[in-house]
Parts: sequence; structure tokens; C-alpha cells
Amino acid sequence: MTQIRQENSFDIVIAGAGIVGASCAAEFVRNGFEVAIVEPSEIGGGATAAGMGHLAVMDDSPAQFALTSYSQSLWRDLVPELPQDVEYLPCGSLWVAADEMEMDEVRRKYGYYTQRNLPVEMLDEKSLAEAEPNLRSGLAGGLVLKNDSVVYPPCAARYFVSEAQKSGTVLFLGRRIVKAKQGSATLDDGTTLFASNIVLATGTAIGKLVPGLDVHPRKGQLLITDRYPGFVNHQLIELGYLKSAHSVQSDSVAFNVQPRKTGQLLIGSSRQYGNEDPVIDDTVMSKMLRRAIGYMPALRSVSAIRGWTGFRAATPDKLPLIGECPDLPGVYLATGHEGLGISTSLATAKLLCDLFLNRDSAIPRDPYSPSRTFAHA
Ligand SMILES: Cc1cc2nc3c(=O)[nH]c(=O)nc-3n(C[C@H](O)[C@H](O)[C@H](O)COP(=O)(O)OP(=O)(O)OC[C@H]3O[C@@H](n4cnc5c(N)ncnc54)[C@H](O)[C@@H]3O)c2cc1C
Repeated sequence: MTQIRQENSFDIVIAGAGIVGASCAAEFVRNGFEVAIVEPSEIGGGATAAGMGHLAVMDDSPAQFALTSYSQSLWRDLVPELPQDVEYLPCGSLWVAADEMEMDEVRRKYGYYTQRNLPVEMLDEKSLAEAEPNLRSGLAGGLVLKNDSVVYPPCAARYFVSEAQKSGTVLFLGRRIVKAKQGSATLDDGTTLFASNIVLATGTAIGKLVPGLDVHPRKGQLLITDRYPGFVNHQLIELGYLKSAHSVQSDSVAFNVQPRKTGQLLIGSSRQYGNEDPVIDDTVMSKMLRRAIGYMPALRSVSAIRGWTGFRAATPDKLPLIGECPDLPGVYLATGHEGLGISTSLATAKLLCDLFLNRDSAIPRDPYSPSRTFAHA
């Protein structure tokens, strides 16, 4: 680590001030690194602003569970210092089972999380109705993940950047990195920033700096409503969401409703592959709303304020790319977080920091290595 910093010379330069780059800046500077962060647009204005902010533990694969549960413990440690505008809400997640087949999945998840010491509760039809009175009757039950929570992602990103700046991080706002190679990054105004390590946390834009990576945008749409405090009590997700999240070829929607601290409801969600048009797709939006109303008929009477789209950076195995870029020594990737980048941002920052400090991490880093190969369907 440098003692006296030469102008434009840092230990680490980060491209992108979304939640991932912002978390990295805060973590690196906390560990004594001299950091610069480059952001062409707004802090937290990319996928981070479009995301739901559900901090979830997921169990699609052991590596996904390891990363999400590790990151959740980091978020929980941070809670006392998060400012009000981050809107942390410890509401828990409730996976809703529509029928007995989905209850089998509830029982499987219950066993999985219990064995790993995460607090979960199984609900039958009656206790589900008590927990969420606005759900339609006749649903089979559900599973509550008590440690899951919700934040407002752009404010979290702004908070991490401002904390990093207080400790000396230099922010190049309105500038873009156009080339990254070992030892330096070139900005769009011709400035060169020098650093031993360059971290690319540019989300779906990664292909512009490192062509040929298997990272593709996956479109999503959300809707926010007026304020209805107490309308839902948990982040509600249908178990069918897993099918939707897994499908990589066809458009899909799933019932996913989030209570915001403001009393508003965030209604999702959709996934579209191969569609890079940021305009709201009315057909998908109607399908998404019909799905939501199917689970929660009372949503018919709420008023929606605004809808938007965003793009998740998806990899074939649904795990992010965290680590040194193949063929580009000194250049590190922190992208490909798909629909879990808010959840896993803090763990991503820790893993990279451990790598730079040449020390072991709390979880194995290999599953997220950018040099892994993907089995394509
Ligand atoms: C509809 C939707 C719902 C979601 N819901 C959730 C959820 O509930 N929970 C969850 O955990 N995740 C969720 N996600 C996923 C989550 O939003 C993303 O995984 C996360 O925001 C990715 O953060 P990021 O910092 O990698 O990318 P971004 O937020 O996109 O940030 C990348 C930044 O890099 C900048 N940039 C681009 N090119 C350059 C360059 N050349 N030089 C410098 N900077 C550059 C961009 O301007 C941008 O600010 C959702 C996503 C969507 C779309």
C-alpha cells in the first residue's frame, strides 16, 4: 500500500459505483488501500436503482447459498450504522406454496436452512392466512426466512461511496473507464489512473471493457404503488419464482411483492432474455400484474405510481464473476450478480479484498472465479 500518493496513482481503481463498486470502495479503503472510483453516470443509478433491494439467502446451489448467507451476515452487522434513507426493513421473506407439490419444496427448504442454522418457520394454510391476510384463500402454506430483509439500494450505494470518500477515496464522477490493463485505467477524457489492481464493477456494461465474457443482460420490470402500510408484512415470493429465475430462454413472470418502509408496495417480477430495450413491455407488465392479483386479489384496488425496467447481469451458472480476469493480470471482475447483486455486494467486496491481501476468505472463492468454465445447455 502506498504511503504518499502520487497524483492519479492508487492501490485500486474501481470502475462503476453501483452497489458492487460502492461496497468494494468502502471495504478496500477500510483495509488501508488508496482507492479511486470512476462512475460516468449517477452513483447507484444502474441496475442498483432498478433492483428490489431484497436481501435474500438463496439455495439454488451450495455456492449461491455460501455467498448469499455470508453476505447477509455482513449486512446484518452493518445495520446499526446504516442511515435512515437506506430504509432497512427486517421483514423476512415468505415463500408462498400454492399446492401440496410446492409444500414438498417448503419442507425441503425448511430442512436445508435449519441444518445450516438459519431461522425459518413453516406455515400451514391457516398460519399463512394469518401472516398475510391479503393473500387469496386456499394457498397451501409457506416458509418464512426470518433473517431476510429489504433495503433501498441506491441510497445504500451512495452511503458506501460517501463513507469511502471520508477515508480518502477519490471519486471521478462523470468519467468512464475506456481501457483497463495491468497497472492502469484510461478515462474517456484521456486521463490515466495508475493502480496495481483495477476492479471492473460495471454490471451489464462489462462486455465493453472485456469482450467475450459470458455475461448477458436479463431484463426485469417492477411497479411501485402508493402507500398502504400493513398491506403485506413480508417480502412475498411464490415458489414458482424459482422456475422463473431458472428459465434462461423464455420470458417469465412471478408473484413477488415487497413492503417498503414508506408503506409503498413494490410489485414484481419479470425476466426476459435477449431483450435489451429499456422501454416497459406492456404485455409482460400485464402478465406480471395478473400473476400478482392471482395471489393477492386485493392488489386490484391499489394505485400504482410508477413502473420501470432494469437489466440484471446474468451468467450461465447464476453465480457472479469475482476475481482476476482471465488473460488480464491485475484486472479483476466484480459482475454477473444477476438478481442477487444487492444481497451479495458486501460478500463480493470482502472476497476481493481478501484476494488483494492474500488471505483466506470466510467462504471458498473458487466457485466465483472468472476463469471457471460454463456448461452450456
Ligand atoms: C428488476 C430487478 C430487480 C432486482 N431485485 C433484486 C433484489 O431484490 N435483490 C438483489 O440482491 N438484487 C436484485 N437485483 C439485481 C441487482 O439490482 C443487481 O445485481 C445489482 O444492482 C448489480 O449492481 P452492480 O453494481 O454490479 O451494477 P450497476 O448497479 O449496474 O452498476 C454498474 C455501474 O457501472 C457504471 N459503468 C458502466 N460502464 C462503466 C465504465 N466503462 N467505467 C466506469 N463505470 C461504468 C454504470 O454507470 C453503473 O453505475 C434486481 C435487478 C433488477 C433489474
